[in-house]
Amino acid sequence: MKKKQELLSQLPSVNELLQQSTIEKETNGLPRRLVIEAIREVLDQIRGEILATDILPESAALEQRVLARIKDKNKPNLSRVINGTGVVLHTNLGRAVLSKAAVDAVTRVAQGYSNLEYDLMEGERGSRYSHIEEIICGITGAPAAMVVNNNAAAVLLVLSTVAKDKEAIVSRGELVEIGGSFRVPEVMSQSGTILKEVGATNKTYIKDYESAINENTGVLLKVHTSNYRVVGFTHEPSRDELVTLGKKYQLPVIEDLGSGSIISLEKIGLNGEPTVAQCLKEGIDVVTFSGDKLLGGPQAGIIVGNKDLLERIKRHPLARAIRVDKMTVAALEATLRAYMDLEGAWGEIPTLKMLKESADDIKLRAESLRMLLVQGKQLEINIVKGKSKPGGGSLPTTELDTWLVVIECHSMSAAEMADRLRQCDPPVIIRIQDDKVMIDPRTLQAGEEKIIAKAMDEVLVG
Ligand SMILES: *Cc1c(COP(=O)(O)O)cnc(C)c1O
Repeated sequence: MKKKQELLSQLPSVNELLQQSTIEKETNGLPRRLVIEAIREVLDQIRGEILATDILPESAALEQRVLARIKDKNKPNLSRVINGTGVVLHTNLGRAVLSKAAVDAVTRVAQGYSNLEYDLMEGERGSRYSHIEEIICGITGAPAAMVVNNNAAAVLLVLSTVAKDKEAIVSRGELVEIGGSFRVPEVMSQSGTILKEVGATNKTYIKDYESAINENTGVLLKVHTSNYRVVGFTHEPSRDELVTLGKKYQLPVIEDLGSGSIISLEKIGLNGEPTVAQCLKEGIDVVTFSGDKLLGGPQAGIIVGNKDLLERIKRHPLARAIRVDKMTVAALEATLRAYMDLEGAWGEIPTLKMLKESADDIKLRAESLRMLLVQGKQLEINIVKGKSKPGGGSLPTTELDTWLVVIECHSMSAAEMADRLRQCDPPVIIRIQDDKVMIDPRTLQAGEEKIIAKAMDEVLVG
């Protein structure tokens, strides 16, 4: 105990460390509070180590630890990561990667003032929605459009406007939970709508909707089941049947499309996602969808459809609380503009590019990544066939053919390698499958192969 006490008393104080020349020099210009916190944390750690092991680190080592800690604390908390998982719309990793045009638009608008709510022609107050409404209408064929913070908010706003204190009829097969925090029944109760569920989990017929209609019915709601599919012995009414029923009873038909593709994905072999234009053409009154799923833009909820309903939706007080900011408007406008030339969008929108890339092209990228990773005593690297996922709740049963780079290390488990790659700067997020580290080049952006190679060097050094 005496020895421990003695070692503890030899530890420098916070002030002494602050005044040490290397630390002083390296931390010049950094917030003092951050430096002091880092020093305190390291000293605390070392005190614990002394009590456990009777070892006092050399002063140079101590200094290095303090500097490393300061560097770590000074890194932004929200940072870029490298997505080696092959999940294109990875909700935990920020969903859609923005196009260059969208990023440029955000930068332009954020760096100075903008005409966000200013009509340059008239020199008076304008609407933030005016910048995008016409473009959305142009590419979807919608009579009117509006944008809010995200699709969950869009559904909430639409239901609050159209069916407050009224019943919304929904199929039992569509009462889904999306990503843990969006549950159709809960959103409905928040909006003040009364959920009227009809049919069974696997089978719902149009007659189920019809027999549920009464004088308090406000809306017929169709929800995209996004992240799961009911397969086998199933039935759901067609849009046409729902629209006909809505007309018969003068009830609006609303569809929460979730992902909301602007462009048909059939060309790249992905079937089963209706486009927004298709839903409107089939007579749905109001469609809602996300900005950062298949559309490939910023987080947003887009509402399109009937002009009168949209007028009411825009005027609802809730709309103000969930309105989009200028950076969203900027990114969304630039993203939507890419769709004005539908075929051009495949080359401009990163999400579409990633979904479209052929397995053959990905194999070439897998090979160049393998070349960059140094094989040797420690690493064994192979390329195998595999599958990527669209993600983001779109196309849940669809997988895309890909090639995976499989990395095995003789001195480290897959889990440990994954941990260490995650601690790199920028962090590299990979997939573990069959107890092996796998990287899917589909979701790597330009130049990221080199960063992975550098990260792997660091991982192997320790
Ligand atoms: C993703 C999704 C939502 C939620 O959209 P956010 O933009 O994440 O708020 C709601 N409904 C469906 C059907 C979805 O797929």
